[in-house]
Amino acid sequence: MALNGDWARAWMTGAHESMTAHRSQLISLDRDIGDGDHGENMSRGFDAVAAKLGDLPADANPADVLKLVATTLISTVGGAAGPLYGTAFLKASGAVAGQDELDGGAVVALLTAARDGIVLRGKAEPGDKTMIDAWTPAVDAADAAVSEGADPSAVLEAAASAAEAGAESTEPLVAHKGRASYLGDRAIGHRDPGAQSTAYLLRAAAEAAA
Ligand code: ADP
Ligand code: MG
Ligand code: MG
Repeated sequence: MALNGDWARAWMTGAHESMTAHRSQLISLDRDIGDGDHGENMSRGFDAVAAKLGDLPADANPADVLKLVATTLISTVGGAAGPLYGTAFLKASGAVAGQDELDGGAVVALLTAARDGIVLRGKAEPGDKTMIDAWTPAVDAADAAVSEGADPSAVLEAAASAAEAGAESTEPLVAHKGRASYLGDRAIGHRDPGAQSTAYLLRAAAEAAA
C-alpha cells in the first residue's frame, strides 16, 4: 500500500491490535524489571487512539494521524512511556507535515524525528536498555535500505526487523535509565518492555504497508 493517510490509520489499527494481543506479555516484561504496568499503559493508550481515529476527516494525511496519536498517548498513557511515545509521534508528525504520501526518505525522516524526540525528552543513549535500543537500529536500517534503493514498504520492513533485534539486544544489558536502572545487575537477562513495544509498533507499520 502507498504510505498515505489510509496507511497511517491502518498502522494505528494494527498497533491497537498488537498492544491488545501483547498486553500480558508487556506486563510480564515490566514486572521483571519495572512496576508491571507497561502492557496496561500501552493497551489503554491504543484503545483511546482506536476510538479517536474515526474523528479524523476522510482526507487526513499521515501527519494528521500521527498528531492525533501523539496527543492521545500523552493524555492517556502516563508513566514514562506516555510522554516519550507522545513526543515521538509529535516529532514524527512534524517531520512529514503536509505530505499526502511518504517515500522512503520520508519514512527515514519520520523515524529519525521520533527517535530524536525520545532522546530529547528522556536523555537515553544506545545501550542504556530502553526503547532507544529498538528505535536507533530501526532508524539506521531504514536509512541503509533507502541507500540501497528499497521501496517505502521495504524500508519499513527493514526498520521493524531491526527494532525486533534491538529489543532482543537489551536482554544482557544493565539499565541506565528508567525504573530498571534501580536494579543494577538484576536487570541482566530481562528484555526491556519499552524496546519490545517499539518493535510491535514498527512491525504494525510494516504490516500496514505490505
Ligand atoms: P513506568 O516506568 O513509568 O511505569 P512504562 O512501564 O509504561 O512506564 O514504560 C517503561 C519503559 O519506558 C521502559 O521499558 C523504557 O523502554 C522506557 N523508558 C523509561 N525511561 C526512559 C528514558 N529516559 N528514555 C527512553 N526510554 C525510557
Ligand atoms: Mg512500568
Ligand atoms: Mg508505572
